[in-house]
Amino acid sequence: MLNFEGPYMTGLRPRLLTLRPYPYGKQTAARAMALLWLVGGATTLLVVVLPHPPALHRGVMLVIGLTAPVVAGVIYRLREVLPRGVYPWLLGTGSGITTVLVAAGGGGSASVSLSFFYIWVVIFAVLFFPPVIAAVEIAIAAVAYGAVMVWTGSFTSGTFTAVEPTVLGAVIATSCAVILLLSHAREASEIDPLTGIANRRGLDRVLAMAMEQAALHEDPLVVAIIDIDHFKQINDQHGHGAGDSILQEIVEGWTRVVRAGDTIARFGGDEFVLVLPECSLLEADAILERLRLVAPDGISCSLGSARFWPGDSASLLISRADAALYTAKRLGRDQLSWANEYPPAAADVLAVDHPWSTQ
Ligand code: GH3
Ligand code: MG
Repeated sequence: MLNFEGPYMTGLRPRLLTLRPYPYGKQTAARAMALLWLVGGATTLLVVVLPHPPALHRGVMLVIGLTAPVVAGVIYRLREVLPRGVYPWLLGTGSGITTVLVAAGGGGSASVSLSFFYIWVVIFAVLFFPPVIAAVEIAIAAVAYGAVMVWTGSFTSGTFTAVEPTVLGAVIATSCAVILLLSHAREASEIDPLTGIANRRGLDRVLAMAMEQAALHEDPLVVAIIDIDHFKQINDQHGHGAGDSILQEIVEGWTRVVRAGDTIARFGGDEFVLVLPECSLLEADAILERLRLVAPDGISCSLGSARFWPGDSASLLISRADAALYTAKRLGRDQLSWANEYPPAAADVLAVDHPWSTQ
């Protein structure tokens, strides 16, 4: 499973800050991939048009230079529907084409210059793929580079020295290190330090993506707000430290009962938001009930939930769930309340055991 989006926010911090890329959306990956193919093609055409060594194979370069922008256009057009599994193959194809270009350079300085395209392969792999897939892509590129240098006779012609691979390797290694550091910094900025789950910033991103997917594929999406009952009293009676431990314990329990693709985020204080993508109301009801029962003895929580309707904004969706939470509190706490979804724009709520039975 490629790491574009989704489930990473459900776990605690040690699971989050592992060595893997920041979960950029699928469309970001498509845009980046299209850009590489476009600029790669344009650069290849420029190399043909501008003064170049006579050994350069212009025909091959022209074909690649003219085809690559078309591929870029197709990737961009299909960015919403391209499955994630296609990207490693597209990148592998990019490696293959780079190898053909290096060969078409005819050896010498042109081939070395064209081998810079491998840097893109490595950067894309590190940015968008989990480490194992990235390592495979990089290994393929490295083997292809070595093979084509042998094939063009670069090693034996005396023109090739250790300088080229050393500089190329150093540039690639430092670029990867910087990308991973930035990924971790960006991901850390989306984590609540106490509980290790997503904070409000992380929630904003995950919810925006979930809403986009739900609208695109007409999938059901449920959002719930969970609030611990009388949490202030717990703090007052047992101290703030004990309150912190209870927050951690409850969140840990919640992460065990949600599905892999669900996200729990800390909304603030003792309030949390749960995002349940591709989840029917019936399934959501069961999950939320499991969540409600997770709290340690003597502690309860109230939940308000709402389903996403196309055209909803994140704030409207959350405000409906919040209004439902308010109803759950008003009706005596320790219960789940669903927003009354008809008409969807109305934020009035109705507390019922099984809300869909009223629809
Ligand atoms: P209700 O049932 O209406 O939700 O009552 P409540 O006492 O839970 O609600 P209220 O919003 O009044 O209190 C929330 C409390 O959560 C107040 C605040 O001191 C406490 N709180 C907020 N953040 C933290 C935190 O990080 N750690 C601890 N220990 N307490 C926190
Ligand atoms: Mg509370």
